[in-house]
Amino acid sequence: MKLLLVEDSERLRGTLARGLRAAGFTVDVAGDGVEANGFLAGYGYDFVVLDLGLPRLDGFGVLRALPAGGARPRVLVLSARDRIGDRVEALNAGADDYLVKPFAFEELLARLHALARRPAETQADVLERAGVRLDPQAHRVTANGGVLQLTPREFALLELLLRHRGRVFARAEILERIAGSESEASDRSIEVVVFGLRRKLADAGCSNLIENRRGAGYLIP
Ligand code: CA
Repeated sequence: MKLLLVEDSERLRGTLARGLRAAGFTVDVAGDGVEANGFLAGYGYDFVVLDLGLPRLDGFGVLRALPAGGARPRVLVLSARDRIGDRVEALNAGADDYLVKPFAFEELLARLHALARRPAETQADVLERAGVRLDPQAHRVTANGGVLQLTPREFALLELLLRHRGRVFARAEILERIAGSESEASDRSIEVVVFGLRRKLADAGCSNLIENRRGAGYLIP
């Protein structure tokens, strides 16, 4: 699951990003609303964790710039403001949930997991191909009926290729889509992810699902 964390306090941003990564999210970070809108315009996210009080453009400005419906990420607003008016305004502006600072990290995680389970207009369909079944809501993959234990990156790669069947993804694009912009991952580490995923698929009897187009990249036809 890909998440954009928007928080201007460097300390809180660092702590939250570390915790969220440890919990299996792919995390990008932004320190103000303008930067956040840049990320949101350029990349797809499942979640945005959004502080309201931000430099340059506040959290309401980020909420209002999000498209209505469609492939909109779910937004959890974080704010030190505990006035009812702010909470109502954020929810009206499109936030899916609201957490008042200070909060326990466990509560943030629990709320994100609850949001992931909540049916949305954009509820993701189960993706299926040649005996492999990926359920984005349940975060579960089966191959020929058996559950596959995938790392977060293997899961993200499989979801990407299944969602865009027939399209070839170059390693650099895969890296950008599944690793997050701050990651130290390289093209080489994408090969490791592909190798690991293919091996697990092969062990489950689905060896030819992911194809390699030499010099171009990977696809699921
Ligand atoms: Ca702030």
